[in-house]
Formats: sequence, structure tokens, C-alpha cells
Amino acid sequence: MNRRQTIPQHLRYTINDFNRQFPDDAACLEHLMQQRFPGNVTYCDKCQQEHKHYRINGRPVYSCDHCGTQISPMAGTIFEHSSTSLRLWYYAMYLMASTRCGISAKQIQRETGVTYKTAWRMFRQIRSLLSETDMQLEGSAVEMDEMYYGGKRKGQSGRPMRGDKKKSPVIGMVERSTPERIGRVKALATPDVTTNQVLGLVREYVLPESTVFTDEYPVYDRLGARVNQHKRINHSAKVYVIGDVHTNTIEGFWSLVKRGIGGVYHQVSQKYLQTYLDEYSFRYNRRDQGNLIFISILKRVAELAALPASRDHGMTPVIQEPF
Ligand SMILES: [Zn+2]
Repeated sequence: MNRRQTIPQHLRYTINDFNRQFPDDAACLEHLMQQRFPGNVTYCDKCQQEHKHYRINGRPVYSCDHCGTQISPMAGTIFEHSSTSLRLWYYAMYLMASTRCGISAKQIQRETGVTYKTAWRMFRQIRSLLSETDMQLEGSAVEMDEMYYGGKRKGQSGRPMRGDKKKSPVIGMVERSTPERIGRVKALATPDVTTNQVLGLVREYVLPESTVFTDEYPVYDRLGARVNQHKRINHSAKVYVIGDVHTNTIEGFWSLVKRGIGGVYHQVSQKYLQTYLDEYSFRYNRRDQGNLIFISILKRVAELAALPASRDHGMTPVIQEPF
């Protein structure tokens, strides 16, 4: 038995579980309806109040039990206007949640027979659900570092020259894990790496009482004024760890991303880089959830849905354009 592959029972969600819970489109539709409108109760535009809704046989819609006005639980979600079956969408989300390194459009094309273009579009849509825009890092120890996608790794040839268009910089911040909770990451594709960028991101995502660990790169020079403590490791002198001073956690995340993008996706355009970073971050931030990550993705569908009737409940679509 390969112990490393073993997910604790309560965090396991196998393909059999999937097939049992979602045998067909109808089961997926009912699940979507329940996620968005528990008890099938939602606001009816015509009645101007909350009413229970009932499934119309043979059509993917529900109707108000008072006036008969129909709503579609798919409206305002990534499934709207899609000719792909809902179950296939769910299966694609299941696949994306069940891998550590990502899943390619080619694979779902092979498994399900949809065209490559359809598969690629589905994954792009699913990725768009995974950006955690307002997440704040609350850990007391945070590592910060940059990587350059599409370029040589730093350390081999140093950081790229400013204005080097072939390399897309990504700035990352990660909490170190504690016995109580796993550390989470925030990774952002940025147009460049400057002192202002770095300070802005720290102000936005890192608590002032945190200790931040970086290397000796000058863009991090002024960090100390923004946080409780700034500790640095001197990589150019080939020193990687002194006591608790290191950036190994964020570098571990970078290698996961690079291995994944390089091995599964082969090439990612600058335009979509942020959405891939969101995918890897989403899984990394839930790596203690086994493959229940699938359930988290399903929840995001409902959270980000923008059915007109739901606007009154403060649900607005979150559209994150890649940088
Ligand atoms: Zn009604």
C-alpha cells in the first residue's frame, strides 16, 4: 500500500461517490438548485416575494408554485449558454479537484469525447471560479518571493532584466503552517516587480503584526516599515536556511506550479497565467481537505452565480480579468 496516496476516509470522495451522487443531468440540476436556493425557495420576480419552486418535467427549469414563472438554476452560472451537459461539467470539476498537478483539456477530451475546444473552454470557465480575491493572509509568519514564468529560474541566471517581455513575473506570499491550520498562499501575476508593487501587495494581503521572510533582492528593502519584522536570507551567498529564516515554503509552491504548468499544460499564455495561479492556489489552500475540494468548487459556482433574483441578496458576479 502506498501510504502517501491514502486520503483519510472522511476526506475521500471517489469516482464511485461521484457516480452515486450525480448519476445524470437531473441530479446535477437538483444539486445546483439546492446549492443556490436551499429548499428550492427563492425570490420570484413576478410575485415580488420568496416562493418555493418546482421542477418542470423534462426541462432544466423550475417554476414558482404561486404564479408559475420559470427560473433556471443555470442562469448566471458558468453553465448558462453552454450546450455541454451539466453532468459533464460536474465531472470536469471533479477531475480538476482530484489532481494535485492539474488536468489537461486533452485528458477530458479523451475520456468524454467532447472536442478539445469545448474541453479547454470548460476548464477556463471552471478556473474563473477559483480566484479568491478578498482572501487575507492571517499567519504570523509569511514568506514572500517572486518567480518568473516562462523564463529561466532565478538562481541559475539571476533575475531577468527589467522589460524582459518573455518572462511573466509572479509575486507570491504564503503563510507558514502551524499545528492549528495549514498555511495558505496568494500568488499574483504582475506586470513587473517593483518596490511599490511589493509594498502594495503586503499592505493588501499581509497583517501588520506578521513577520515577513524574503531573500536579499532590493525590491524588498522597505518591507520592514510595513510589518512587525522583516527577516532576510542571503541567496546570492548560497545561504538558504538560517534557523527560521528561509523562503522554502513559497519555493515549494513555485515548484508545484512550474511542474504542473510545464508537465500538464505545457504552455500558458501570459493572458491566462493568473487563472492557472488561481487554480493551483485554490487547491493548495485546501490541501487538508482531500478530494472534498470538489465540494468547495461546487460551492463556488453557487456563490458566484448572478441570477437576477439573487441580486437582492448581495450576490454579484466576480469577474477577475487576468492581469
Ligand atoms: Zn411567482
